[in-house]
Amino acid sequence: MGRLRVAAALVSSFLVLIGVAAAAVAPSGPPTSTGTGGAAASVETLATQAAIDALKRGGNAVDAAVTAAGVLGVAEPFSCGIGGGGFMVIHRASDGKVTTIDGRETAPAAMTPASFMWDNGKAPAFTTARYSGMSVGVPGTPATWGEALEKYGTFSLAQALAPGIALARNGFVVDQVFHDQIAANQQAFRDLPSSAALYLKPDSTALDVGTVFRNPDLASTYERIAHLGLKGFYRGAVADAIVNTVQTPPVTTTATPGWWHPGVMTMRDLHDYVAPERAPTHVSYHGADVYSMGPPSSGGSTVGEALNILEPYNLGALPRDQALHYYLEASRYAYADRNQYLADPDYVNVPLKGLLSKDYAATRRSLIKETAATSPVGWGDPWPYNGGGGSASVKVSTSEAEPGQTTHLSVVDRNGNAVSYTFTIEQIGGAGMVVPGFGFLLNNELTDFNFDSTGTANQVEGGKRPRSSMSPTIVLKDGKPFLVLGSPGGATIITTVLQMLVNRLDFGMTLPDALAAPRASQRNSSSTQAEPAFINTWGTTLGARGHTFSSTSEIGAATGIEFLGGGKVVAAAEPVRRGGGSALVESPSP
Ligand code: GLU
Repeated sequence: MGRLRVAAALVSSFLVLIGVAAAAVAPSGPPTSTGTGGAAASVETLATQAAIDALKRGGNAVDAAVTAAGVLGVAEPFSCGIGGGGFMVIHRASDGKVTTIDGRETAPAAMTPASFMWDNGKAPAFTTARYSGMSVGVPGTPATWGEALEKYGTFSLAQALAPGIALARNGFVVDQVFHDQIAANQQAFRDLPSSAALYLKPDSTALDVGTVFRNPDLASTYERIAHLGLKGFYRGAVADAIVNTVQTPPVTTTATPGWWHPGVMTMRDLHDYVAPERAPTHVSYHGADVYSMGPPSSGGSTVGEALNILEPYNLGALPRDQALHYYLEASRYAYADRNQYLADPDYVNVPLKGLLSKDYAATRRSLIKETAATSPVGWGDPWPYNGGGGSASVKVSTSEAEPGQTTHLSVVDRNGNAVSYTFTIEQIGGAGMVVPGFGFLLNNELTDFNFDSTGTANQVEGGKRPRSSMSPTIVLKDGKPFLVLGSPGGATIITTVLQMLVNRLDFGMTLPDALAAPRASQRNSSSTQAEPAFINTWGTTLGARGHTFSSTSEIGAATGIEFLGGGKVVAAAEPVRRGGGSALVESPSP
């Protein structure tokens, strides 16, 4: 990731255009760039560069984001792509509007709360559920791109997809991360000739590092969408092939026993898909306005609730260990509410207003002591702060979605338009099924439901969107964009975004430092997940307050952009996590 995979055997005019030399291997990154004009940050140099090129061609931030997303769908096919979904938050400079596009995958209409319970009335283990037709949600990514361009962009789909098409046709060199992500799916890919043909060598092992990888099928699929619009995906041959793949996973006779349970998606499900525009979540925090993604994501409401809980502490003025203690406790209580209340708002009455009210936050704050609470802590009752109604009677969801991998793209243009876009196919490699003839992997997003139980807000239902943690965020100050940020990382996305905001807004770190700082993630669990560097620095002092930690090598892989004032911007990506990302500005400062 962040690595520049250069030089296909045939160097396209696109590659020449973006300055990629034929046989050279340029360094990945850079993780930070400062300058003027627009800016972009992603995990992948090719995608970040494609965004900058789109801006230079006169595109706005939305055009550049969709262009870069198309490239990511080619170069990062195990983390995102047209077979998946995601959420885009947009700030439009001309009128200051902040809006979101909900491109979350939907469950096929025929699904029920018991759809995954095919194992003697019980749901199978996660991996078996994942590698099935049942886990595949109706993809939302193409609709997100179409909707974003139509309403807020100036490029056609054909213009935005052109760099992705060129890259898929001409190819790029397989690097270690790409190789490892194939290897992680080797068993599943062996089961499907369509997946094996694209990602495995004839001996059924992962493509070697250094191989030129091309995906002409995906290039043709993008071209179909470019020429026909969204009906090139949601109708006709592509839709037909998706339905066949889901209903009858095209596996070999020697495929892994138990995997590849058929799903129930139909052409109607694809025809009916829409990526609705929804209002963002909003909280004020120390004079800034924080906008993020509302339900069906739990991101914006949980980040917002935690910020509301934290606001009166003035964390920046406290000893750092005490401030971090409050950060962890606020996250713990916000998470208890998230697990209880958050789900698709078209199916469940979500008390969003209550969860985001300052007065409700005060009730949660009153529970915070100077030592760590014992999790799981209970959820609160936001309904009185929501204008009444509702009840907390649904079963709390106890299962937490397995951390998958996703990608976050931050783009701004010189006029102050901004896009914060997190998108995914859920696990690395999604459901493991490449749609035969079309070159893209299908998601396993429906395992983000509480698929193994019924009666929770986030239970499986036909047409419903599974609860997400994605938290693409835009922060305004005085009505002007100030920060754009987000991260992958499943349920840790929420704490990563919260921690970066606290680092930047309260602790006064620069944006690159706020991204790079060691992370800890408290999600109403008995011990807090944290990176080794966090535990090394804070384990003892926070331990004295009753916190315990479980070590994990990396949490998240964020990108962000900050407007520094006077027309200057800094773009930031990870310097180290996941191999580092790539952040560029349109006109770098010398
Ligand atoms: N499926 C996850 C979510 O929507 C994103 C994938 C991941 O990073 O785990 O929250």
